[in-house]
Amino acid sequence: MAPQSLRHSFEVFRDVAPLRNLRRQLLLTNRTVGLVPTMGALHEGHLSLIRQAAAENTDVFVSIYVNPTQFGVSEDLESYPRTWDSDVEKLEKLNDELSRLNGNKTDPKGQAPGRITAILAPTSKVMYPTLPPSSEIDADGSFVTITPLARKLEGASRPVFFRGVATVCMKLFNIATPDRAYFGQKDVQQTVIIKRMAKDFHLGTDIRIGPTARESDGLAMSSRNVYLGTRRRAVGLVLYNALKEAEKAYESGAVKRADILGAANNLTQQVLSEQQAMQPSERALYEVGYISLADPDTLDELDVVDPSKGAILSGAIKVAPVEDTKPGEDCGLGDGKVPVRLIDNFIFKPRV
Ligand code: AMP
Repeated sequence: MAPQSLRHSFEVFRDVAPLRNLRRQLLLTNRTVGLVPTMGALHEGHLSLIRQAAAENTDVFVSIYVNPTQFGVSEDLESYPRTWDSDVEKLEKLNDELSRLNGNKTDPKGQAPGRITAILAPTSKVMYPTLPPSSEIDADGSFVTITPLARKLEGASRPVFFRGVATVCMKLFNIATPDRAYFGQKDVQQTVIIKRMAKDFHLGTDIRIGPTARESDGLAMSSRNVYLGTRRRAVGLVLYNALKEAEKAYESGAVKRADILGAANNLTQQVLSEQQAMQPSERALYEVGYISLADPDTLDELDVVDPSKGAILSGAIKVAPVEDTKPGEDCGLGDGKVPVRLIDNFIFKPRV
């Protein structure tokens, strides 16, 4: 299909060939492309990555594609928020902001500073041209697997997740051949896996990581936060608070696992006990998936942090459906019935 609409300040592509044509023209005129892969339902976290991409490239490609192969068979593929119109509106506003910001500035090579040039919003038939995308563990198809990294942390409970992520990113990289691709630290295991993929497959794309965008109280922004509603949103902050405790311990000199994770585990346990003691109409329950202290390259769990290397502190909780909703209560998208997995992390930088 031809690029849609000149109504926008960017072109919308649903197919590969027209985007490749644009990419070729950009290459021939010495422009640079930064790719920001997303699943839409855009929020400030996505926009901050696009801003970073626009600061480092002349042209930003944003992909919006809810990739079926990274959802487990019992996960929320069907209900995942799809908000095309408001996504496009946000990207238009961002392009306005970028052009105001850039004014008549030019970079040292005489190029205009970056803006969003293209949105890639492919169909599944385009992304998976031969076999339909499958989330089965033993599915047939062309997949990229990055092990053992993909089995750790998130991968322990979501066995097809990183196979899906690596596969769709490889496809997007092959379609867009970006100079740089931008990923959020929010999904820290994803950043480690995509960097490994780029290294092991000799991809010519520089993998760039942007900081986690947070709400004012610290909750990491996520497209899935819309499922939470007020009650679960308040309790869900426990993950951030627990990781903060661990970060404080590292910053005050602790290196042993028990000394770093002790306070974090106590807090998740204490808040859970408080919730369990409350009425079902008042409380929100959750399960802790993991609180991990891991090597930044291998993601192997650490007993002791090597201060010259640092570590990745990460965690996941699954907030259970709201048990007993009160009339008029804000229970979020899906009326509180959707369990919500929250993840978060902090990077422990090497200490000199
Ligand atoms: P998603 O649409 O959730 O697949 O995310 C697309 C990209 O945005 C990924 O690289 C995410 O890591 C990144 N991202 C999601 N949430 C945040 C956030 N709160 N801060 C920074 N980046 C984020």
